Amino acid sequence: MAGPCAIESEDQALTIAGHVKKSGAHMFRGGAFKPRTSPYTFQGLGEAGLKILAKVRETTGMPVVTEVMDTQAFDLVEHYADMLQIGTRNMQNFSLLKRAGESFRPILLKRGLAATIEEWLMAAEYIMAQGNHQVVLCERGVRTFVHHSRNTLDLSAVPVVRKESHLPIIVDPSHAAGRRDQVLPLSRAAVAANAHGLMVEVHHQPEKALSDGAQSLYPEQFDILCRQVKAIFNVSGGQEPF
Ligand code: PEP
Ligand code: MN
Repeated sequence: MAGPCAIESEDQALTIAGHVKKSGAHMFRGGAFKPRTSPYTFQGLGEAGLKILAKVRETTGMPVVTEVMDTQAFDLVEHYADMLQIGTRNMQNFSLLKRAGESFRPILLKRGLAATIEEWLMAAEYIMAQGNHQVVLCERGVRTFVHHSRNTLDLSAVPVVRKESHLPIIVDPSHAAGRRDQVLPLSRAAVAANAHGLMVEVHHQPEKALSDGAQSLYPEQFDILCRQVKAIFNVSGGQEPF
C-alpha cells in the first residue's frame, strides 16, 4: 500500500497513484481526515478528499484505504473507501471499534502509540466481536525516548502476532521512522521478518507536502523499495516462524 500522507488535490493524488501503481503497489493510501498534532495545521480535505480517492480507484483500478477518525464520519468514509484505517491515536476508541465491527469493509487497525500487543489484539477482538472478521493489523512504531527517529519500529511484533493471531500483519515504516532515509532499510527488514505487507508514504513533491513530507519517499525511491523487497520476499517470504 502506498500513497501520500494526505490527499491534497486531484492532481497530486492521481500523479502519485500513477507512480506507485507502476512500481507495483496493490493499494493506494491517502488521508482525507487527518489526526494532526496541532489544530492549526492541515486537517485534510474531508469529503472532497474521499471523492478524489474514488477517482483514483476509478482511474487506476487500485482499491483505496483511508482513515476514519470518528463514528460521526463512519458512514461517509465507508461509502467511499475499500478499506478503513483506524489510526494509532484511536486504537482503543472502543465506540469506533464497535462501529468498525458492524462494517462490511475490511479494517486496517494500527497499533497504539504505547500499546502492548495484548491490548492491540484485544482492540481487534472488539471489531471481530461485532461480526466483522476482516481485520489487518499494522505495526507503525511505538513511543520511546530516542530522537533519531519519530517512533521506534517494533519489528518483534511481526513474529509475535504471527504466532499469537491468525490476522495478517503489515508494517508502516514511514510513521515509525519519521524520516525518509530510514524507510527503505526498515521496509527490507519488515519483509525479511515476514510481514504480510507494507504501507509506505510517497509524494512526488515531498518538500511541498502538507503533511509528513520529511518521511515521504520520492517515487524513484519507492520504485527501488519495491524491487528490493520483492527480492527479499522471494528468498524469505511465506515462511512460518518457528
Ligand atoms: C496515517 O497513516 O496517515 C497515520 C496518521 O498514521 P498513524 O495513525 O500510524 O500515525
Ligand atoms: Mn502521515
